[in-house]
Amino acid sequence: MEAMNFEPENIRFSTGHFIGGRVIGGGAMIDVLRPSDGQIMGGIPDGTDAVVDHAVTNAHEAWKTSGWGTCSPRDRARVLHRWADLLDAHVGELAQLEALGSTRPVKDAHGFDLPFTSECIRFFAECADKFGGDAVPTKSDSLGLVLSEPYGVVGAIAPWNFPLSMASWKCGPALAAGNAIVLKPSELTPFSVIRFAELAVEAGLPPGLFNIVQGRGSEAGAALVRHPLIRKISFTGSTMTGAAIMSESARHGTKPVTLELGGKSPQLVYDDAGDIAAVASRIVKGFTSNAGQACVSGTRLIVQRGIAERLVNEIVAQVSHFKPGATWREATNFAPLINERQANKVHASVRLSVEQGATALCGGDFFQTDVGGYFYRPTLLADVNGGMEAVREEIFGPVLTVQTFDEEEEGLLLADHPTYGLAAGVHTQDIGRALRATRRIQAGTVWINRFGRTWDFILPTGGFKGSGLGKDLGRQAFEANLRYKSVLVDF
Ligand code: NAD
Repeated sequence: MEAMNFEPENIRFSTGHFIGGRVIGGGAMIDVLRPSDGQIMGGIPDGTDAVVDHAVTNAHEAWKTSGWGTCSPRDRARVLHRWADLLDAHVGELAQLEALGSTRPVKDAHGFDLPFTSECIRFFAECADKFGGDAVPTKSDSLGLVLSEPYGVVGAIAPWNFPLSMASWKCGPALAAGNAIVLKPSELTPFSVIRFAELAVEAGLPPGLFNIVQGRGSEAGAALVRHPLIRKISFTGSTMTGAAIMSESARHGTKPVTLELGGKSPQLVYDDAGDIAAVASRIVKGFTSNAGQACVSGTRLIVQRGIAERLVNEIVAQVSHFKPGATWREATNFAPLINERQANKVHASVRLSVEQGATALCGGDFFQTDVGGYFYRPTLLADVNGGMEAVREEIFGPVLTVQTFDEEEEGLLLADHPTYGLAAGVHTQDIGRALRATRRIQAGTVWINRFGRTWDFILPTGGFKGSGLGKDLGRQAFEANLRYKSVLVDF
């Protein structure tokens, strides 16, 4: 395999907004740090109301004049397919950019995030002419039509944990459905999406159809939500910000919102789950992937007593094999936390749990590395209860709480979270038990005898309860980017 190591100083990236097909700078700048070592790697302009207005107006104009919303869906699909091909052709460059500016180790970015991103764009390209309107005979001399039409300009706001994949979840369905999109990436991970957008234009997307505004959420993000030409909002991020965006969208034009928010996903393991090493490896992947900085992280192990000790011992053994390190080193297989603030939050949460009576079976502190960033040891917390922050709140770090149960009903009650419902894992060889649990668990995704998403774009993703509203991915995400007009014709 081609070596993926690279030197951070050799990477070029653009430090601006992306409007009308080109990078635009100017104004006050915000420093952007490399998560691996905390060094300043560059800066972005701090987007103001005026910049957001420029980006949205430009997108609206491009949308009207390009005919993107009214052309044949197959023409749109062709552009999106070309874009996906270009993303594949630039996989090395994009993986380096992603690895440098985010928490994604280069091997994961290259082997997973980038192929996932291009394939996501392809999936939505394929949706372009497959879903949408309808025709309904209403009487012998009349016909009802349901026309699906794009909104115009969609506003998208993304988090920092998987910058390119999250951007593809937003851009794919919005553009395939015939909208223009203005994206505000996280101010912590602003660079790779600019190259992503440049390649869209190179693929033939009319300039202005995909604009990017950089800046802080409270300024640029909030201005995007308020803008009168933004007709729909798609947001991925924390539950608190999602709630604020929903209320702002209501106040500024009752815009529809799609919200992909936080989670506290259970891993429900029964005595008959099967091979302990295999189950442990799913649990480990579920809470350590991206150092736990994933919305779906399976952070609550709920295990039946008969195998609890063996499973926990196996998990502790498996997590000892990680190699934390700079994201630009191919050998690195464990991600840094995004920044010092997040590191303090994770550590404070673990310390508080221990003070409240939890036992750290492993971890509970930082790896010692010579890199400079914050690498938190995978941590298992036993002797916890539902009142503790570690069980209740999303920590967004590699922390797994362990609770045991005897009877099936008891396990199901523990699995149900009072406020979150994003995903869940169920591990058992008994299909009846698995399906009983699936019916009971209130979560947008239930994985049986596995944990985590792969290439299953057809399956919508999104949460129940405080984990969100609406869906990303799947035909549902495509359809959410359309609005429906009823037409009745008498003849
Ligand atoms: P965040 O809510 O702090 O920020 C997300 C984005 O919102 C950023 O671009 C930020 O600048 C912007 N923002 C902040 N305040 C805003 C405001 N008032 N108005 C408009 N925009 C604003 O979240 P984060 O820390 O970047 O990401 C981590 C969170 O995202 C976690 O809670 C995680 O679970 C969630 N997440 C959910 C999914 C999912 O599919 N459900 C996927 C990834 C991440």
